[in-house]
Amino acid sequence: MPGSIRIRSSLFLALLALVLFTGFAATSRAQTPATHGVEYRGGRWFDGTRFVPRTVYVVDGLFRSRAPARVDRVVDLAGGFVVPPFADAHQHLYAPIEPTIRAYLRDGIFYVKDQANAPLGRQAIHAALNRPTSFDYLSANQGWTSPGGHPVEVILRAAPAGTPMGDMIRQRMDPDFAMLVDTPADVARHWPLFMAGTPRPDFVKVFLFYSEDHARRRADARFEGNRGMDPALVPVIVRLAHRAGLQVSAHVYTAADFRAAVEGGVDQIAHLPGGHLSPDATFLLTDADARRAARRGVTVITTITQHGDAALTDRLVRNQFAHNIRLLRRAGVPLLLGSDRFGDTAVTEAAALARSGLFTNLELLRLWSVTTPRAIFPSRRIGRLADGYEASFLVLGGDPLADFANTRRIVRRVRQGVELPPAR
Ligand SMILES: [Zn+2]
Repeated sequence: MPGSIRIRSSLFLALLALVLFTGFAATSRAQTPATHGVEYRGGRWFDGTRFVPRTVYVVDGLFRSRAPARVDRVVDLAGGFVVPPFADAHQHLYAPIEPTIRAYLRDGIFYVKDQANAPLGRQAIHAALNRPTSFDYLSANQGWTSPGGHPVEVILRAAPAGTPMGDMIRQRMDPDFAMLVDTPADVARHWPLFMAGTPRPDFVKVFLFYSEDHARRRADARFEGNRGMDPALVPVIVRLAHRAGLQVSAHVYTAADFRAAVEGGVDQIAHLPGGHLSPDATFLLTDADARRAARRGVTVITTITQHGDAALTDRLVRNQFAHNIRLLRRAGVPLLLGSDRFGDTAVTEAAALARSGLFTNLELLRLWSVTTPRAIFPSRRIGRLADGYEASFLVLGGDPLADFANTRRIVRRVRQGVELPPAR
């Protein structure tokens, strides 16, 4: 009798265990529905410092280092070099957007920050962006400057008078294409219009241009297009922006612009100071400038190729940019790669930075594929090929640490787990 009770209770315990286990298994299946994915073998994966041979799984658009219960497909990367996708932190994009999407995906650029656009312009491209088949995109919407300040002249050049589009843009310049402000009252009046933009602004862009000479330039019509905003308005806009949860990026040209931007509390500087309209000394930062920017957590975007002309770029690199880059890096200011090149991709900027000799290939690869994407989308798990991160990557046909030009030999592109078709 006692024996049979023992047998029965063991049987009961076994049944209970089975029920509990089945229930548990069902629960854990419900919690992780994706038990199948893709295996990528034979690749050398960038770990932030070097390339390591690994087998990596992609499950539900994320990297996994452990195999899922079922592997649907095995992809052999044939010794390819796997890196996180590239980014461009300074662009201005317009319709038609399809050629831009094709060029960016071809060049491996998956993350883009538009440093001033108009909601009207954005509406024409919005539906095509931030999709698995295009790239991820943020925009500042209308830039903030003074009446007649930069970049109004750039917008006017693209809007010839006498054409329906040109006339519309000229009539609606402020506030639909640029926020033109001279006083704190102007800012207060424009702010609700700015925030009502559709799509909503993702950050704020202010324009400084010879801020050390603003009062004189503001009073003289000959300086239209060659001035920016009153630097005294920067802290006014920064306060409103930060209260709304938006970061502020500043266009700068001279070293004094950089100083005014940092002093005014901006989060990002959209250019390295530098140019050819004044002597080199006008554009050279000091150690104190760099240290103050570092203390305030300001990031600086390179845009050394913004002037287009390769000979001019190389001269400015030698006489101005090299000095500013060395100073900023020594102080610990994060540099981000941005091109500001209309109708071109960040490949040109990356090539010019490589040619400058100021960076090792490792430093440049980190700048382009780790630091810049993560600075554009700080809350996302990107820029790292690690467990739980978004499964976006490029496979290169050669080692970019041996030759940076290998960043152009992209043989495979995967975006959030989805294989993109080969580039045309
Ligand atoms: Zn720009």
